[in-house]
Amino acid sequence: MAARVAEDIFADILERAKTLDPANARKWFDKLTVPHFDGGSLRIGCPDDATVQFLRDNCKSSFTRAAQQITGHLVSVDFSVDHQKESSPRSERYGPMLRLNPDYTFENFVVGPSNRLAHASCVAVSQSLGNTYNPLFLYGNSGLGKTHLLHAVCCEAMQRSDSAVIQLLSCEEFVNRFIRAIEEGNVAGFQSQFRTVDALVIDDVQFLREREQSQQEFFHTFNALYNNGKQIILSADSPPGKIPSLEERLISRFNWGLVARIDPPSYETRVAIVQKKAHLRDLSISDEIAEYIARKVQANIRELEGALTTLYALATTAGEQITLELAQTALNGQISLAARHISITDIIEAVTSHFDVRLADLQSKKRSQSIAEPRQICMYLARNLTKHSLEEIGGHLGGRDHTTVMHACSKIQNAKRSDPQMHALLSELTKQITQTPQA
Ligand code: ADP
Ligand code: MG
Repeated sequence: MAARVAEDIFADILERAKTLDPANARKWFDKLTVPHFDGGSLRIGCPDDATVQFLRDNCKSSFTRAAQQITGHLVSVDFSVDHQKESSPRSERYGPMLRLNPDYTFENFVVGPSNRLAHASCVAVSQSLGNTYNPLFLYGNSGLGKTHLLHAVCCEAMQRSDSAVIQLLSCEEFVNRFIRAIEEGNVAGFQSQFRTVDALVIDDVQFLREREQSQQEFFHTFNALYNNGKQIILSADSPPGKIPSLEERLISRFNWGLVARIDPPSYETRVAIVQKKAHLRDLSISDEIAEYIARKVQANIRELEGALTTLYALATTAGEQITLELAQTALNGQISLAARHISITDIIEAVTSHFDVRLADLQSKKRSQSIAEPRQICMYLARNLTKHSLEEIGGHLGGRDHTTVMHACSKIQNAKRSDPQMHALLSELTKQITQTPQA
């Protein structure tokens, strides 16, 4: 396929993938390349291994669906580092355990009074592993940015030092690996893996509670690293002394370095976070809307993101301009709409009641316009608002096969472009479906 054509198709695929999975739509998708596309297999080039991992973990199915919808063929999608565009040639150092989220950098972290100490200590540690605060212990409620900061430290430290070996994992994973090592009789292997790093970063150490043997192992790992001047960074939902049934000797070690608390963000910080997150999605929202969202969502930043995802979905699927009014209706009362599970039944209910047709008609063989169009609209909305496959959608609508569903989707997509009435109707239905209160 000619490079130019492949690039154009790829641009469409990316747009579609963003609509199919608004929660993972990112502006930096623009930087992805197409080193290989032969119609049947699409290899997507990424700047580094962290991006490869992120896309494999989160976006493979939406990219695959998007590629199939846009090309109308079965396409297999994979991601790899594009060595011509590689941002850092050290990607091979990302072991399977260093799954860094490309969004979680210092640059994307908004600093405010609630997290200033945590942020500053993380920056200091990342610049000189083992030499400033050791261990560094971050704590705070869920959704306040602990994991984000831990990833940012790793990312920054990797960029600064060519040779640093870093392990970042959740405490749960640490415990599971330990248990597996015992089962496999390879505790020595486990120990050498964790005791020889330059930095060990463990997220959510409250998970150690009541796991006596893991606590012991962790204690020895801690000592080995600490005595060798290696960096230890930990996060938890409460300060060391408040983690239930944590051994006294671990509590005391966790307190040796710096313990930094993260509080819920102030209003001003929340506004800045909303703007930052919108920017990451290439979503432009006015200050007024950012302020509105920041006022609505107070406790947990993850919910701010849910709100933005909802707006993004409305802006892309329904093609709406995001006005304050739309934001208010969309987010009113239930901010995490996008996290809500939308089922095909929700969609069918909205469509049948709008057109005043029966489900049995949609499922029947009837092909009159008055039945075929609502049926096709159901298929289109199901494709865009749920994660169901073409086959499953066809199954709900009278056992139609995937090519029929695909044809319906592209027909409605075209009608949406050329017919303002269809455009308005789809917006209205999308709004209704995404706003139906959760059962
Ligand atoms: P925790 O690990 O404390 O539960 P996370 O690090 O998972 O929280 O953060 C939840 C979400 O909120 C993430 O998407 C993260 O990027 C975002 N977030 C939290 N604090 C900030 C901040 N100060 N600036 C930007 N994003 C933030
Ligand atoms: Mg976390």
